[in-house]
Formats: sequence, structure tokens, C-alpha cells
Amino acid sequence: MSDDLHEVYAVRYAHHDRKATENFVGGDPHDILQPLAYFVWAIVGPHGTFVVDTGFDRAMADKRGRTMVQPIAEGLKTLGIHADAVEDVIVTHLHYDHCGNYDVFPKARYHLQDDEIAYATGRYMNHAHQRVPFEVDDIVAMVRKVFAERVMFHDGTDAIAPGITVHRIGGHSKGLQCVRVKTRRGHVVLASDASHLYAHMNEGRVFPITYCVGDVLEGYATLKRLADSPGHIVPGHDPKVAEIYPAAAPGLEGLVVRLDVDPKPV
Ligand SMILES: [Zn+2]
Repeated sequence: MSDDLHEVYAVRYAHHDRKATENFVGGDPHDILQPLAYFVWAIVGPHGTFVVDTGFDRAMADKRGRTMVQPIAEGLKTLGIHADAVEDVIVTHLHYDHCGNYDVFPKARYHLQDDEIAYATGRYMNHAHQRVPFEVDDIVAMVRKVFAERVMFHDGTDAIAPGITVHRIGGHSKGLQCVRVKTRRGHVVLASDASHLYAHMNEGRVFPITYCVGDVLEGYATLKRLADSPGHIVPGHDPKVAEIYPAAAPGLEGLVVRLDVDPKPV
């Protein structure tokens, strides 16, 4: 029995109806809806349970005009994961939809890139435009965890456990990291916001919230290099993810899906 193969799940927790043109620098010629889905992810294997990102709660959904589908703790519970027992949380970046719910994992240590905390607490936060995707309370909560010795910092590529590595991509946020997981179907890459939708990486297009466009575009090549095939890359906000991957258990269709098995063709 291999000790580096993991199960990987996506837990959908929120939704936002919006027009396609809002999702791309330069807009989109089609006057159609292209909603965003919001996910956290769970990696389960011989070295324990690793939660990737912590989403936002109902209060933040109301503040930001998003629709809550289920609180993340309830979604994780359907996988038998109890938030108060989780020991490792990987935070891909510090945008409000990836690092809220900061009291939900009292025992966890948080894995974060050096560049991300520096970006979220540094000179660029003087600019309203750069602050848009950040919430100061989320950032303060993470700084408090640093002082409580609950943050493990990573600089570039690092191993979290056998078969689980993080890789700094940057671009969308300066210290954005993706997560590569060895599974029985090969290496799956949780892109998070290194590609919001399949269309971003497949068509070389860019989501409007960006620290560095060049690094966003370079990031698509990194994702493809890390994954066993393009079909092994899981974008961060594409509603298709919840449709093409099978439910983790009967009744969880479209809500909690399994990423370590092959999806239906897109
Ligand atoms: Zn996001």
C-alpha cells in the first residue's frame, strides 16, 4: 500500500451569478451568464487530513452579495471531517473568499507563502484598488496566528507531506500557491485562483483581479507542467467542477465531489 496516495474532494459552499464579461480582462463578446462557484478542498490520506482554503461565512456572503450554498464546516462534515480536529490548513492566498472562517479550525496550523503575508500587510494595501479582494479582519486574524506560532511559511515549492506539495504561482495575488496531490489517477493540481475558470488557462485569458498579468499567464504553464494532464487541473471557481466530477456520496451531487477519479469530458 503506497503511503503517498490521497483522496481529494471539492466542497462547494457559495455561488455568484454574474455576466461572462466580468470575468475577463478586456471583457467577453458574449452577453451570457458565467457564474462563479466557491469551493474549499479536502485532501485525505495516510498522513491525515489537509483542508485547502477556508472560504467565507454567511455574514461575508451578505456583505459581498454572494449566495451561500452551505457553511464550509457542514460541507466538510459530509466527508467525516470535523473542523475542530483538523491539524493542517493550506491557504492558497489571502483573498476574502479563501481565508475567512478563521475561528473554525482551532487546532490547525496554516501553510502560507512568505510573499502572500508580505503583500497583504505591505505597501500595496495603501491602494484601494489592490485592497478590493482583501478583508482587514482576515489579515489581522492571520497575523495573530503568526504570533501564536500557528503559521508554517513556505517560499516557492515545498513539501507538506509525502505526495502533497505547494508551488508559488503569484499573478492573481503576489503569493498565490497551488497544491499538487498524488492520487490514484495521477498528480492532480488544485489551481485555486491560478485559473478561476477552465477558460482562463485554456484560452490564455486573465481574471480582472490581478497583481501581475505576466505571472498569471506564466502560471498556466506551471499548472500544466505540474499536472499529469490538463484534465488533472482543478480551477478555483468553475461551476463545471461540481458538474463533471462524481459526488463524494449519494445525495452530494453538485455539492461535494471527488477529484481523485476521472471527470466526465468537459
Ligand atoms: Zn477566489
